[in-house]
Amino acid sequence: MMLIYDLDLSSLEALLKDWDEPAYRAKQIWQGLYQHLYSSSEQFSNLPNSLRNKLAEQFIFTPFSVKTYLDSSDQSTRKTLFQLPDGNLIEAVLMRYGDPADEHDQTSGRGAKQRRTLCISTQAGCAMGCVFCATGQIGFKRNLSSGEIVAQVMYYAQMLKEQGETVSNVVFMGMGEPFHNYENVMASIDRLNDADGYKFGARRLTISTVGLVPQIRRFADEQRQVNIAISLHAADDDERLAIMPVNKRYKIDDVIKACKYYIEKTHRRVTFEWALINGVNDTPEVAQKLAARLKGLLCHVNAIPLNPTQGYHGEATSRQRAQIFKETLEQAGIPCTIRMRRGIDINAGCGQLAGAASQ
Ligand code: SAH
Ligand code: SF4
Repeated sequence: MMLIYDLDLSSLEALLKDWDEPAYRAKQIWQGLYQHLYSSSEQFSNLPNSLRNKLAEQFIFTPFSVKTYLDSSDQSTRKTLFQLPDGNLIEAVLMRYGDPADEHDQTSGRGAKQRRTLCISTQAGCAMGCVFCATGQIGFKRNLSSGEIVAQVMYYAQMLKEQGETVSNVVFMGMGEPFHNYENVMASIDRLNDADGYKFGARRLTISTVGLVPQIRRFADEQRQVNIAISLHAADDDERLAIMPVNKRYKIDDVIKACKYYIEKTHRRVTFEWALINGVNDTPEVAQKLAARLKGLLCHVNAIPLNPTQGYHGEATSRQRAQIFKETLEQAGIPCTIRMRRGIDINAGCGQLAGAASQ
């Protein structure tokens, strides 16, 4: 059995041709999946029974079971734990922003635009071993297929549809390193983008990477409209290496050069992510060092106080220290926003996704 979301439209067309079905059937199935958001073969009421049965026999529509889900106490955030058929666990998070009662979103208020942002996984586990990250702490299990990535979006899209809502943004910031599963991640983006299908605009997608240099360059060459965020977290190679083993292979300079290349190629802004760890990377001196490194780049810094994880004893920066960090950067000409932490009470924050270990 094959996961139906693993197919692109042309492979589906080829398959239907093999089945001696008329060509328009493939489009009907595609629209059923990505426009009507059907989640089982019975829902395809515009197909003959025989074809519906064949779909049920040949395809998997849901590649995982829902093991648990948790809602944050303020109801703004839901984390779902999915179990894959091989037993691996992945998580995906829905964040509601801009609702009238949303205290987390400082930009909200009357008339603020509601957003439904999904944070999805690209791998079960992660091989990059960042010490402050719960996913890194469990190690690498396997890559997700493009269809397993797409299916996380479809799961929430189907759920939101029942409430008359739609997904507004998708960030590849769940479990795993997207650029370590490059082909499948790009295939999932193409599928979500597809003009005959889900039509999800590339600009509403964001890939977050630990900073794999060759892939950043490749991504630049491909000229996609997808946003990119680089997890930096330190402005000095030794300090970065102490918390991010990847820095052994790719030094900060190389990462920044690759970002420069990306900006030259795409004229798009790069986001640098920064988990503020008390006393480690949150001092004004560090902020100045960072500003010197980023000077002249079309970029901004997204800082977030560290979220707690079991395997790392660092502490979150206080609100006050975070504010000073931000101001120091801005005085040096680097725009910075401090993101509010969300979903901490259900371990759904950045870097807190660890499958069963976090339940
Ligand atoms: N592997 C990718 C994307 C997944 S991690 C990456 O590393 O960029 C998503 C973001 O959460 C990254 O910026 C990561 O550095 C950050 N993060 C990891 N652990 C965190 C923690 N404990 N607190 C805050 N942010 C964390
Ligand atoms: Fe992997 Fe990203 Fe976590 Fe690092 S922060 S271990 S790259 S998921």
